[in-house]
Amino acid sequence: MVNLFQVGVGSGGMTVLDIVSRDPRLTHVTIVDADYYLHHNVLRHLFPIADVDGRKANLAGQWLQDRRPDLKARIIVSRLEDDATRQMIEASIAECDIAICAADNEPTKYYFDALMRQHKKPWTLGEVLAGGIGGFVHWFIPHGPCYGCVASHLRRSVTIDTGKAPDYSAPAGPVAETTIPASRASISVIASLHAQITLQLLDNGAAYDPGFTSMLYTLEKVPSVFEEAYRTHRFRIPRSPECLVCRDVPTAGEDLDRALNDALDRLKPL
Ligand SMILES: [Zn+2]
Repeated sequence: MVNLFQVGVGSGGMTVLDIVSRDPRLTHVTIVDADYYLHHNVLRHLFPIADVDGRKANLAGQWLQDRRPDLKARIIVSRLEDDATRQMIEASIAECDIAICAADNEPTKYYFDALMRQHKKPWTLGEVLAGGIGGFVHWFIPHGPCYGCVASHLRRSVTIDTGKAPDYSAPAGPVAETTIPASRASISVIASLHAQITLQLLDNGAAYDPGFTSMLYTLEKVPSVFEEAYRTHRFRIPRSPECLVCRDVPTAGEDLDRALNDALDRLKPL
C-alpha cells in the first residue's frame, strides 16, 4: 500500500503521475492543482482537446479512474498555499508515503519543501529547462538537504542561464511557455527520469543512494551552456549548515507562512 501526494499535473507532472500510477503498489493518491487546462496546453499534454477548460486536477483524477479504478484518489482543486484547503492538504501529506513536486514556480517549490520537512516525508522534484535543452531531477529525504540547500548550491556551481526559468510548460511561469517552449519529447524524457527516481526512492527508502542528490541531464548542445547533448551531471549536495531555509525548521504549530517568508526574504539578492 503506497499513498502518493502530488502537486502539479501540468504536462510534466501528469506524465510523472501517469508512469508512477502504473505501479501496482500505489493505492492512494492526492492531487493538488488549481489550474485550468487550456488550448495552449494541448500540444504538450496527455489530456485530449475535448477536456479544454476543465480543471487539470479533476482531469487527472478522471485519467487515473480510467486506468486504475482501484486507486483511491483525493482531488484538491487549489493552490498548495491556499488557506481554505490547508487542513485537507496537511492531512493528505501526513498520510502520504512519498510526494512528487511538479510545481511550475519557485515559491511553491519552497513551500512544498517546507511542508515536507515539517511532516518528514521523502519527495522528488523534476524541472525541465526552458527550451527543453535539458532538465533536473532531485530527490529529498527528511533531514537531508532542503530545496534551498540544493538551489543555492546549483546557482553557485552550474553555469546555465538562470534567466531562463525552469519550465514544466507553465503558462503562468516567469517565462511564458509560448516564448521558449519545451517540446513534448523533452518534457517526457525528464518526467520519465523523475518517475524512475520516485519509484526507486520508494523501493529503497532511507537507504536510497544513486550517487547523487540532484542530476542534470542535457538534451541539446547549447554553446556556452551545455557542451554536449545527452550528458549527465551528477551533484551530491550536502545539507548546508548556513542554509537560510532549513536552518530554521518551523516546528508544528509555528506559522509556516511566516517562517517561509522570512527565509525567502533572506534569500533575495541584496
Ligand atoms: Zn537547506
